[in-house]
Amino acid sequence: MLVVKKFGGTSVANKERIFNVAKRCIEDYKKGNDVVVVLSAMGKYTDELVDMAQDITPKPPKREMDMLFTIGEQMSVALMAMALNHLGVPAVSLNAFQVTMHTTSAYGNARLKRIDTERLRTELESRKIVVVTGFQGINKYDDYTTLGRGGSDTTAVALAAALRADACEIYTDVDGIYTADPRLVPTARKLKEITYDEMLDLATLGAGVLHNRSVEMAKKYGVTLVVRSSLNNEEGTVVKEDVNVERMLVSGVALDRKADRVAIVGLKDEPGIAFKVFDCLARKNINVDVILQSIGRDGTKDISFTVDDEDIEETMATLQENKSRLAFDRIESETKIAKLSIVGAGMMSNPGVAARMFETLYNANVNINMISTSEIRITVLIEESQGERAIKAVHDAFGLAD
Ligand code: ADP
Ligand code: ASP
Ligand code: MG
Repeated sequence: MLVVKKFGGTSVANKERIFNVAKRCIEDYKKGNDVVVVLSAMGKYTDELVDMAQDITPKPPKREMDMLFTIGEQMSVALMAMALNHLGVPAVSLNAFQVTMHTTSAYGNARLKRIDTERLRTELESRKIVVVTGFQGINKYDDYTTLGRGGSDTTAVALAAALRADACEIYTDVDGIYTADPRLVPTARKLKEITYDEMLDLATLGAGVLHNRSVEMAKKYGVTLVVRSSLNNEEGTVVKEDVNVERMLVSGVALDRKADRVAIVGLKDEPGIAFKVFDCLARKNINVDVILQSIGRDGTKDISFTVDDEDIEETMATLQENKSRLAFDRIESETKIAKLSIVGAGMMSNPGVAARMFETLYNANVNINMISTSEIRITVLIEESQGERAIKAVHDAFGLAD
């Protein structure tokens, strides 16, 4: 059996944790399995690298940021291979260049395109545990790229798909996927199973337990994921196409405090204007969410939408650059907002879910700014300061509490 095991930052934060992970990998190896280990940078080291860069310049070039980021993962894989060797098991560490993991060229937000498996296979055939850097890749210029914060999960799933692994296990600091972030909602309950679609929405809407692209890729290649703790032997949560357990109306609730809102006021009300606005943002690789268009005055309209807070400056600058082409009156941004979402495949066949969510927010005295829905999701934009209260109220209202 070939197993891919991914360990996040807290799971390799110090010497004790590194040896703990090494021992878990050796258990698998001693069963006769081929073991590929994907690691993140130790503890909060990636954040420290961001701080170091910021200390030099407020806007470091993205290429150089990626060059800097890659040392975090490189450090953990080398130390892990040393620990495994120390415990008497042959191991080798590999970075994205050595594997090779090809990505698109977008620094800081690259997508994996193809992974060469030859070197990995050779190392596995010589009965080594192979320890691979998460998060990083190589683009067509032979430069390092990174997959976006939290991207090591995606590396693990991509490797599992490329190697046709029998299992892909994501080890983290919680023992599974919960109905809400247990740090925010202490009464959250662990789920036994969740579908790819539900998890993809939750991950995209703020549940940072999995990188959203890892779920997208798992669905595409049919990789079953197990999310569990590196510190205990609890069962964890399985992410797959269909779940066996009875569908709950709502499977989870997520809060995204990183969302910012942009309003373009006084756009000319004519065909093609929405296309022009979102096209110029798409060209800059800016992801746009929750869009609202409303009628303005005198043949004008307003368009509001949300972007990730990392993109807000570039969004405003891009719109400003295109002001004459887009012909708007003014643009405004609002950063103190949050996105609150409920997700559940059971919603599809049950009317009244939205009403219950809105009623709950009304009773909690939370004002809704914007609403967006899909078949299995309802998202509202609210004031950031009310986020925690709102997520707790909604979580309780749908009977998710333990
Ligand atoms: P790692 O470094 O292992 O990748 P992350 O910090 O990226 O770990 O993800 C684990 C964290 O995700 C947990 O500590 C938890 O606070 C957070 N989280 C957010 N939403 C959820 C959820 N629905 N279920 C479990 N954890 C969640
Ligand atoms: N080390 C990277 C980060 O902190 C990647 C990851 O942890 O998945 O974002
Ligand atoms: Mg993570």
